[in-house]
Amino acid sequence: MNETLQALLILQERDIKLHTARTDLEQIPKDATKIKAALTAKVQALEVAKQAQLEAEKAVKAVELDINTRKETITKLKMRQGETKRNEEYQMLGHEIIRYGDDIDELETKELELMEVVDLKKAEREAAKEGLANEKQFATEQSQVLIARKKNAELKIQEVAGDREEKAKNVDPDALALYERIFKQRGAGAIACVSQTGKCEGCNIKLPPADVHRLMAGNDLVQCSECSRLLYLA
Ligand SMILES: [Zn+2]
Repeated sequence: MNETLQALLILQERDIKLHTARTDLEQIPKDATKIKAALTAKVQALEVAKQAQLEAEKAVKAVELDINTRKETITKLKMRQGETKRNEEYQMLGHEIIRYGDDIDELETKELELMEVVDLKKAEREAAKEGLANEKQFATEQSQVLIARKKNAELKIQEVAGDREEKAKNVDPDALALYERIFKQRGAGAIACVSQTGKCEGCNIKLPPADVHRLMAGNDLVQCSECSRLLYLA
């Protein structure tokens, strides 16, 4: 194999490690933001559930108040009934008392329904509370994972970067510049292997026979005409 290419392959092995570690370092704050957003969503969900429970309780209290008002009215009507000497008024008051009594029946049915809503909202609030507790625990665990990931990535960079620079010193500057340009352009992996069937494994395109011939001669660097990667024979 071409000597320059051999040196570049060694360099690429380091560069892929560096690239992976640097990509991870960039990803870590994004993951931390996601964890925080998920936690905030659970905090908000609990607040919404709490408000819903309070609203439901308020509705029950309002109906209770309506019932009490009507009960008081019935008491007053009964007193007036006791005081009146006129039969017609007595009858009229009696009708009023029945009407208010019916109202109370309806309101009590409504109260029962609303109390069921309160129970439901309470259960939902409990679920939201549990959801938040679980999310908090998950976030704590994940934060530890992120700290470890950051530390690992930083260590890896520290470990490889110096060695990479040393190795780069041994490579022809023009070839190095070409390699670095392709590496950047291709994300990671500036050098591709040519398969037994003569295909560039970077882009899967078959090489012209002339390029295969040049590769076999091993005198110069050969780039894939399709993806520009530097090539070597398997
Ligand atoms: Zn290619």
